[in-house]
Amino acid sequence: MRFEVLGHTVGAPLGGACAGYLVHGDGGTILLDCGPGTLERVWRRGLAGRLSAIVLSHAHADHVLDLVPWSTSVTSGELEHRAGGPLPPTPLYVPRDHGPQVLDALVVALGLREDRFSGAFDLREYDDRDRLSIAGMELTFARTAHPVPCFAPRIDDGRATIVYGADGARSPALVAHAHDADLLVVEATYLDPDPGQQRYGHMTGEEAGQVASQAGAKRLLLTHLLPRPDENLENLRRARAAFSGTVDLAREGLVVVA
Ligand SMILES: [Zn+2]
Ligand SMILES: [Zn+2]
Repeated sequence: MRFEVLGHTVGAPLGGACAGYLVHGDGGTILLDCGPGTLERVWRRGLAGRLSAIVLSHAHADHVLDLVPWSTSVTSGELEHRAGGPLPPTPLYVPRDHGPQVLDALVVALGLREDRFSGAFDLREYDDRDRLSIAGMELTFARTAHPVPCFAPRIDDGRATIVYGADGARSPALVAHAHDADLLVVEATYLDPDPGQQRYGHMTGEEAGQVASQAGAKRLLLTHLLPRPDENLENLRRARAAFSGTVDLAREGLVVVA
């Protein structure tokens, strides 16, 4: 598998797009999260309308907002126009109950047609009891320590394992879920420990390194970064001090082979 970073910023698309990652397998490509700036980057790669699935870790704005223009590009026929013919609706996996609630609220708040999202995507719900098979890749999930239902996918193609920690504070569940991962993608939002971790549910670079070390992961990629280059480099340094494997900072276009 190849893991490709489209966007890595937290909160706002400053200095790059928000959360959006492609997992390329032999049988297709999965998009993980769809934050602001993701659609344009998927479009440039000619993959909009051709993905095997979109999987949303959770329904915070920096992980979902591009679904709004994406649905417009589907219902307006723009994706089919580019493809030169009909395209099947892309399966869109959202956290059970909370995902549809947020999409329904967006429909009301933005005055969209009631079937905007269900008409544009093949909408499906999941949670941590589910095991998904998508394009030859098996996905299982662990709930993370975050204020809204958030699930970290573990993706296995039979040869390698990639775990995307999504958003969440350090937790034993994430460590267990990420055991022996070939690539662990974890957030490094803060430089110093979050004083209200229960409230915000995020990690530092040092904590990300500790999770990778405890999980026995082979490689660590830090993401969900603020637009503060100096702090991100310091987070990278602290993660490397806590984890003996390879550690990188996410950047647009970075591809890691697992
Ligand atoms: Zn979040
Ligand atoms: Zn986030």
